Amino acid sequence: MNSALAPVKQKSLNLLDLDRVGLAAFFVGLGEKPFRATQLLKWVYQEEVVDFDLMTNFSKPLRCYLSENCHITTPEIVLEKIASDGTRKWVVQTGCGNKIETVFIPEENRGTLCVSSQVGCALACTFCSTAQQGFNRNLTTAEIIGQVMVAQQRLGKEKKITNVVMMGMGEPLLNFDNVVAAMNLMMDDFAYGISKRRVTISTSGVVPAMYRLTEACDVSLAVSLHAVTDELRDVLVPINKKYPLKELLEACRDNAKLAPRRTVTFEYVMLNGVNDSIEDAHGLIELLKTVPSKLNLIPFNPFPNSNYTCSSNNAIHRFKTLLNDAGIVTTVRKTRGEDIDAACGQLVGQVADKSRRHLKLNPVSVEHAA
Ligand code: SAH
Repeated sequence: MNSALAPVKQKSLNLLDLDRVGLAAFFVGLGEKPFRATQLLKWVYQEEVVDFDLMTNFSKPLRCYLSENCHITTPEIVLEKIASDGTRKWVVQTGCGNKIETVFIPEENRGTLCVSSQVGCALACTFCSTAQQGFNRNLTTAEIIGQVMVAQQRLGKEKKITNVVMMGMGEPLLNFDNVVAAMNLMMDDFAYGISKRRVTISTSGVVPAMYRLTEACDVSLAVSLHAVTDELRDVLVPINKKYPLKELLEACRDNAKLAPRRTVTFEYVMLNGVNDSIEDAHGLIELLKTVPSKLNLIPFNPFPNSNYTCSSNNAIHRFKTLLNDAGIVTTVRKTRGEDIDAACGQLVGQVADKSRRHLKLNPVSVEHAA
């Protein structure tokens, strides 16, 4: 699956690390016109051409320079799992034995790709399995946009990625520059051209970075709220100790100012007996009244050694009805890909098989859920 056609040389630049502005600066630095950037984007992301020799609108000397000094390398898929509901999960190798996960969720009118931003996560949310493995490192822009590239290659022309959610492994706002550059490429008309309403970044609430995001990049914002008091949120989402609810909601209001009728989506994981009472629902109504918002209830997805259970269907339904009746548009997230551990909070990025059997199967090992 590695699409590099030339051997990767040390210090050679991976052009997937640059968005249009970065590429234009790169070409100007070579004495070329800035429009070479859009030409390159079209070759790579629209024509799926990564061999510089085939980029026929570039001069021979430019092609030669690029071949010698640059490369276009996507991360490598080492395992593909296909769930009975059509959800697909890819385990992606990112060097030094690190693995991340990317998930495609097909629906009737759209296909959503859930993309990772970090190897592991530093934030230690107590109900999330990614948190349990700790933090390893930030992904590069190439590794983030590369997940879209390799997923689209595996899906083929018939199944199009129409939406991207930065809801895989990691806290995207703690890898700000690389995530923003990758999202620019997702939305760039010369690359994937996905509308800004269909690119969503989800954050646990890194408040200063939320303000930066509002200035830098107009994408949809989702916030992992999960609790309506600082006391409980300090436990579930420990970054709340640094940026408590009042500051978080202020940053949300700032983002909602971006455009008329713009809303922030709040995510709220339903934990049995922890945050799913009628009082919690009333507390949530009071909080969300202060921000133009939508609410997405996420049934808790269990994983080994998790200390929580999911709220009952009745409790989820009661919660949803109370919120909807108060005028807050509330949906319950359908759990997808459970049989391949692809649901929210279940991504761990490890290949359990220590024999590395999967790596020997070329090009990609595919497993179907029973
Ligand atoms: N770090 C970002 C991106 C993760 S997105 C964030 O916190 O928003 C994944 C979403 O799934 C978040 O709302 C996260 O809180 C939620 N989640 C994590 N573990 C979960 C689990 N076990 N069950 C259901 N949702 C979970």
